[in-house]
Amino acid sequence: MTVLVKPKALGDYKIREFRMLIDGKWVDGAEGRMIERVAPGHGVTVSRYQAATKIDAERAIAAARRAFDDGPWPRMTASERSLILLRAADMIAARADELAFLDAIESGKPISQAKGELAGAADIWRYAAALARDLSGESYNTLGDGTLGVVLREAIGVVSIITPWNFPFLIVSQKLPFALAAGCTTVVKPSELTSGSTLVLGEILEAAGVPAGVVNIIVGTGPEAGAPLTSHPDVDMVSFTGSTGVGRLTMANAAQTLKKVSLELGGKNPQIVFPDANLDEFIDAAVFGAYFNAGECCNAGSRLILHRDIADEVTARIAALSAKVKVGDPLDPETQVGAIITPQHLEKIASYVSAASSDGATVAHGGAALDLGMGQFMAPTILSSVRAEMAVAREEVFGPVLSVLTFETTEEAIKIANSIDYGLSAGVWSRDFDTCLTIGRRVRAGTIWMNTFMDGASELPFGGYRQSGLGRELGRHAVEDYTETKTLNMHIGQRTNWWMPR
Ligand code: NDP
Repeated sequence: MTVLVKPKALGDYKIREFRMLIDGKWVDGAEGRMIERVAPGHGVTVSRYQAATKIDAERAIAAARRAFDDGPWPRMTASERSLILLRAADMIAARADELAFLDAIESGKPISQAKGELAGAADIWRYAAALARDLSGESYNTLGDGTLGVVLREAIGVVSIITPWNFPFLIVSQKLPFALAAGCTTVVKPSELTSGSTLVLGEILEAAGVPAGVVNIIVGTGPEAGAPLTSHPDVDMVSFTGSTGVGRLTMANAAQTLKKVSLELGGKNPQIVFPDANLDEFIDAAVFGAYFNAGECCNAGSRLILHRDIADEVTARIAALSAKVKVGDPLDPETQVGAIITPQHLEKIASYVSAASSDGATVAHGGAALDLGMGQFMAPTILSSVRAEMAVAREEVFGPVLSVLTFETTEEAIKIANSIDYGLSAGVWSRDFDTCLTIGRRVRAGTIWMNTFMDGASELPFGGYRQSGLGRELGRHAVEDYTETKTLNMHIGQRTNWWMPR
């Protein structure tokens, strides 16, 4: 059983039409083609975008290049840039309901969750504004009487920002304000499935006082509009969030001109649970970690590694709580799990579940798509008796599917946790301090939660080990990522000549 919230028809909803932002102007694409977005929870078109081609991508890059080489943005004081970012944060907060609605209807996520993401995003813009004024280099007055060394931090230049569909406004907010704080100029390409809120952000940034050409936003498919952003010689850095496969391609493209790359990629994140854990707290966190954003989340806690002594009891309790989770209409404030992004993605999720069942896993709850009369939905699903070598335990399903594995010793738990290619995040549950710290130090992942799951803050760095990515976002060094260092080596007084006349 699952609690269903049937979607209500959108009635006289007016489809939103968007143009793209290049060099401070809202323009049509070179070929005038359109992209239509069908709402995953309602099955009807809700947005139309101009589709960018390679020509549009190159125009956007040229605008960003001019704005960097000749424009005022990199030359402003940090205080001036910071004020504009703060103004943008206030405008994001003022338009949060509109932005949350766009994210919910285009991505299928629950509206209550989308509102939370918008509040988090506004906080990140404020944090970036604060960091803008703290960016500084180093000085060395310790190199002898004849030398003074100064290390400058300079904006790296033109940055391509490519984002996925699962957290449309939040993920662009983990990148763009920090690039702007550093003085960079940008071309942003959101996922073609969920571009609406990023385009509204373009309006906000214009109104906040960001000069023309500093933020260019194009919408289009990855291979057509995204690929030029990763290979063009006038781009200095690519900041990408998405699948590990496209991340690898991005790095290979960027290698041709040796661009800096920052990659936030997939995850297959374990929660390791010991018998002495507070199981009431954990059971709630297990359900939240697995079904938040319908599991379409790089940080999803999609692998439970339970101590054998508690595995049966805990699995039964998670199944019982899963039956109470409300699945359905993304626009209903009660909904906890919304729609799946596309019908093709729903098929992919279902095929992981059927392959796991054929391989010997047991469906302890859910296991199939749900028919709610419109849109596409997946039942919260628990698979028990999963073995570590199964695809469902190693690969990113990106759906509300929880795999349960078991362990007997701490060493075994660590081995299972580290046995896959990903290393984004992990959780450990125990009342024992030594146990938590041992797991925290030995599991190879960018974030380890102890007796909680998927908490975050703008101050805490986020990113992955191994094939979960390269570099970190957020945290106090987030602006530095968008800079180059330059050494000024200054001589004082008479220089000792290399060639001496004899
Ligand atoms: P994709 O990797 O397919 O796409 C991400 C972005 O890259 C989209 O804007 C996409 O455009 C674009 N893109 C696709 N192909 C290319 C290309 N050849 N060159 C340049 N850009 C390209 O991921 P999804 O959008 O499907 O998002 C889901 C994936 O993202 C999951 O696998 C998840 O693990 C990962 N992810 C990781 C996060 C992290 O922080 N670690 C956070 C969120 C998601 P378009 O889709 O419009 O074609």
